[in-house]
Amino acid sequence: MDEERLLPITLVKEYYWCPMIAYHKLLLWSERPTQSMQSGGLTGEQRAELVERLEEARIEVQELLWEQPVQSRRLGLVGRVDLVAVTPRETLVVVEAKLSVSRRSLYSRAQHILAQLAAYTIAAEETLAMPSEKTLVYATEAARLIEVRITPRHRRLVEEAARELWRILETGITPWTRPRRSRCRACSYRGVCPSIQA
Ligand code: SF4
Repeated sequence: MDEERLLPITLVKEYYWCPMIAYHKLLLWSERPTQSMQSGGLTGEQRAELVERLEEARIEVQELLWEQPVQSRRLGLVGRVDLVAVTPRETLVVVEAKLSVSRRSLYSRAQHILAQLAAYTIAAEETLAMPSEKTLVYATEAARLIEVRITPRHRRLVEEAARELWRILETGITPWTRPRRSRCRACSYRGVCPSIQA
């Protein structure tokens, strides 16, 4: 692993959405902006709403770390968490904002988002040297907090993705991917994707 270079945590999400997208982004490095990337974090109003929701959920907070840079040198991953709340017990509450998401959608078909949240949680724990107590998604459209249980399986998913991402970067090996019409139709890599051309 390159000591000086860490891979963005968003690639963990891409990897579980479609490994070939992660491959394209790693090797062509032609990052296509997404809505969440363009939004540039939470607005002042959204931050105030989020703090209200934390109070309503009776989450005790000692310090709020907005846009907290986090990294896991162990896994070679780096990112920025929308909010890390430090509790009086010296534990962390990791909060990631998503535009529109529900508890049902998270658990029924959003393994890629759960893996991304687990990656942020691991990196926050490593960076701030405190254990996490909770991981929350803040659904900005509905101004609602959703608690996500990060299990050992989610943590293993992150480790596996990090291993594979580094392997792709270092060897250039194309990951095996089965094209799926619903995903491929709107994919911006469709024109250059070897899975589609095969
Ligand atoms: S075209 Fe399909 S298989 Fe290729 S990168 Fe996009 S989603 Fe993945």
